[in-house]
Amino acid sequence: MRKALQLATSLSVILLLGAGSSSAFAANLKVVSSFSIIEDFAKNVGGDKISLVNLVGPNGDSHVYEPKPSDAAALAGADVVLVNGLGFEGFLPRLVEASGTKATIVELTKGVEPLKAQEEEGHAEAGAEHHHDHGAFDPHAFQSIANAKIYVKNIVDAFCNADKANCDTFKKNGADYTKKLDQTEVDVKAGIASIPESKRLIITSHDAFGYFEHAYGLKFLAPEGLSTDAEPSAADVVALIKQVKEDKASAIFVENITNPRLIEQIASETKLKVGGTLFSDALSEPGEGASTYIDMMHHNISAFKKAIIGS
Ligand code: ZN
Repeated sequence: MRKALQLATSLSVILLLGAGSSSAFAANLKVVSSFSIIEDFAKNVGGDKISLVNLVGPNGDSHVYEPKPSDAAALAGADVVLVNGLGFEGFLPRLVEASGTKATIVELTKGVEPLKAQEEEGHAEAGAEHHHDHGAFDPHAFQSIANAKIYVKNIVDAFCNADKANCDTFKKNGADYTKKLDQTEVDVKAGIASIPESKRLIITSHDAFGYFEHAYGLKFLAPEGLSTDAEPSAADVVALIKQVKEDKASAIFVENITNPRLIEQIASETKLKVGGTLFSDALSEPGEGASTYIDMMHHNISAFKKAIIGS
């Protein structure tokens, strides 16, 4: 009798342990994000319910990134791979193929209204000469917060499809984060409204801010096009300098992902003072002021205001 009781007790202990381990140590959804901004969105939606590996890190340039062997391994082991799409990650098609991954590849720009790539004044001729392999659309959709909310919705949907048990958590996290994005959008619009309309022309390194321009009304010019994969020609730079002088640009900025040399040259020839660093295609390292998407948006709007209206 006593033995039977002991056996029953130890069985129930085993069962309890078993039950405990299946919930506490259930395998998390394995997620890979292609670059730091998507990593931040995925963390906000997935929380502790996902295991996340990111490819292009803080201050990294996704246009010209060269994958490491560990990236292929991460893709091969993933359940879900979150990417920007529209040709932003030039390295991606070959990496996906090399990894042999069976994961669902989710393009987060799905549902975004894409802006057409324009070979505008300044690098029209160079655009025709160079053989860029980026697509017909501007891929930097994440620079509009309205689009960021679409990215987040796509992440919630992808996580719910892959892990139904945690879907409610993903939905709640997504809704909470979207509220913060709403507030950030209010802040950005208020920031732009404080800049006089005659002072809204900004120079940056490459055309990363087309969606920001379209959504919020600053105007951007850049010596490099939609990708950073080709240096602008001397003629492009001369044309840009001429335009900057004619159109009276208000401020010039370097970007965290690009070499500042060209911008410093243009700044000195146009007598514009470099207004600091903008975060364009990547977040910063922790402690550099733009290590989350929301901090990045606040950093950039503060930088514009400080350079143009001095506050
Ligand atoms: Zn870019």
